[in-house]
Amino acid sequence: MSTGTKWEERWHPLREEWVIIAAHRQDRPWSGETVPDKAASNDAPQYVDDCYLCPGNPRVGGRRNETYTGIYVFDNDHPCVGENAPVDLTAPSGIYRNRPANGLARVLCYSPKHNVTLAELETDEIQRLLVAWRDQYAELGARPEVNHVLTFENKGEVVGVSNPHPHCQLYATNFVFKTIDTEAKVCRRHLEATGRVLFQDILQAEREDGRRIIYENSSAIAFMPYFARYAYECYVAPKETHSSLLGFDAAELKDFADALKNLVVRFDNLWRMSFPYVMTLHQAPTDGTDHSGFHFHIEFHPPLRKPHLLKYLAGPEIGGGNFLSDTLPESKAEELRSLPDRHYKKDLV
Ligand SMILES: [Zn+2]
Ligand SMILES: [Zn+2]
Repeated sequence: MSTGTKWEERWHPLREEWVIIAAHRQDRPWSGETVPDKAASNDAPQYVDDCYLCPGNPRVGGRRNETYTGIYVFDNDHPCVGENAPVDLTAPSGIYRNRPANGLARVLCYSPKHNVTLAELETDEIQRLLVAWRDQYAELGARPEVNHVLTFENKGEVVGVSNPHPHCQLYATNFVFKTIDTEAKVCRRHLEATGRVLFQDILQAEREDGRRIIYENSSAIAFMPYFARYAYECYVAPKETHSSLLGFDAAELKDFADALKNLVVRFDNLWRMSFPYVMTLHQAPTDGTDHSGFHFHIEFHPPLRKPHLLKYLAGPEIGGGNFLSDTLPESKAEELRSLPDRHYKKDLV
């Protein structure tokens, strides 16, 4: 029917990338739903009765969350890619191409507690979260139609999240998201040309300089890259090359959880507020090609430069596609490194 024209993927021939048209979600209650102010404040309770992510509560569309006690994963009720995406699409004109937006979109709650964030989870809870991310990647990536699993957390109202219940999203798509696709291609080219893993060369350059390393332990490292585009852009990576979380052993998972926690605690301590960011797992595509040169890492793109000052993307970034940064990575990294690694809220009570 007419839904065929509202939900599909369209090829952008100039950027060589897919655009997901999910106009059927326009009137979804999901994004329009707001949680009362009490839920957004620092002293929000552990359980909020009208939060659609809290245990046992009804979600939009009528389904009800289990009364979960740990990590909880469910299929997004208003997916942007899904098994029911229309397949009978209207063919576009001329050079244009479209295809079904099939795949799977899921939501993963970090905790049954409404009032915690990634930075407030204990290291062993973050470790279990890493295992959950790994298992989702394995399960979704194994589906024949899925070429990539994008796992990301949008945190904070400035990135459009009205519900503070700690959660991330998974988009298992039939295409590889552009940033990952670029990284995968560049990593393969570097490996072929030099025999080395590009990310290892990056880590080596960071170590030689040292000024942008925020934290490291025996197998994981958190740093602000030399080429950071956002004021507080940081990466967390294992020291050994693994193309995804699948390659991690138990000790590496523990170290990685420790490094991840160390960084996000510093983020919160920076302005003594819940620090907004877009966090993305950079895992290799699951498209069946060899990604041995791909080095798993997590990227943080925090939108704020100062407590209430957003980095606006404008002419250079949106218009031109390159970033103009007003801050120096070396001094911003120093700022983060000089902060305590104990969460400020622990001393509030
Ligand atoms: Zn909640
Ligand atoms: Zn990356």
